[in-house]
Amino acid sequence: MSETLPVIPHSRPTVGDEEARAVAAVIGSGQLAQGPAVQAFEAAAAGLAGRRDGVAVASGTAALELALLALGVGPGDEVILPSYVCTAPWLAVTRVGATPRLADIEPATYSLDPGSARKALSSRSRALIVPHLFGLPADLTALTALGLPVIEDCAQTLGASENGRVVGSVGRATVCSFYATKLLCTGEGGMLLANDAALLSRARALRDYDAVPALEPAAYNRKMTDLQAAMGVSQISRFKDFLARRAAIAAAYTAALQPLGLSPPVVPSGRSHVYYRYVTRLARPRPSLDEVLAGLEKEGVQARRPVFRPLHHYLALSGFPASDEAQAQALSLPIYPGLTDEQVRRVTAALAKVLG
Ligand SMILES: *Cc1c(COP(=O)(O)O)cnc(C)c1O
Repeated sequence: MSETLPVIPHSRPTVGDEEARAVAAVIGSGQLAQGPAVQAFEAAAAGLAGRRDGVAVASGTAALELALLALGVGPGDEVILPSYVCTAPWLAVTRVGATPRLADIEPATYSLDPGSARKALSSRSRALIVPHLFGLPADLTALTALGLPVIEDCAQTLGASENGRVVGSVGRATVCSFYATKLLCTGEGGMLLANDAALLSRARALRDYDAVPALEPAAYNRKMTDLQAAMGVSQISRFKDFLARRAAIAAAYTAALQPLGLSPPVVPSGRSHVYYRYVTRLARPRPSLDEVLAGLEKEGVQARRPVFRPLHHYLALSGFPASDEAQAQALSLPIYPGLTDEQVRRVTAALAKVLG
């Protein structure tokens, strides 16, 4: 039976007629590269993250690199980041010539552990990259108390709050990704957001090789097109509906998973979750995560490890027990606004079968 049903993908962009119309209008305008739509998208995204303004760029990775450059981070400096994240933050730190210093995560929330980050501090520490993973804000209160400039990595979390503050509004700078399967999608794209006018103008000067009349070696072409930005504006206008649908799916998963002995994502008091990912945990050793992933695939359900590989595994480092445990146990289920109630039932039925 299940072989005949279409596969439920792990991720899927939520785009349709509105985005098609927005992109068509840009094509009709004759202004395709960075122009008025980029400006409108920057203003709308800044509103969402409680920031003064934004600098739209080609990707979240480019936004991370720009944030570090605009903060003056370079050779001889160290930047603290968690091991349990994709490779983009590590690559951005390395590209600006600084040294990444890895820290561990909190086991329950998957967020950068303030205690582990404190242990990674040195006299050369210049910044902290704080990813808000899976839709849950990190412990910004404890992390900002470490005293270093914080770059909030909001690639997976927008619209959530921590102690009454909207995520993205707290650190010195914030970066977003609008990759195809993120909360807001422009195909590819990213943004640096901040309140500091000087930091924003440094970033603008570095995103475009001809932005200022100077030969600046750190400048480059990192620009976003108006085609992408028009999609982004349309996505932001529907963001509240997207989050409401994600919350409803998460509630359905939580109700269905508890009888299977699977715990829902932890949401500490003072924080809210926007469920970019729905990540549960396999607490028993059998079946293993690989067995569960393969079993679900056979049932036509694509589930994933939420992080492909922790950074310390690439670097053959040890001493990151919470990241190791997350990599062995964390299971990410399909969740996106277009997922139907029927598909949610198929996912939970497949899980019940695979866990036996
Ligand atoms: C996706 C992502 C990035 C990189 O964004 P791109 O737009 O793919 O370059 C950085 N950090 C986190 C936490 C991400 O999820």
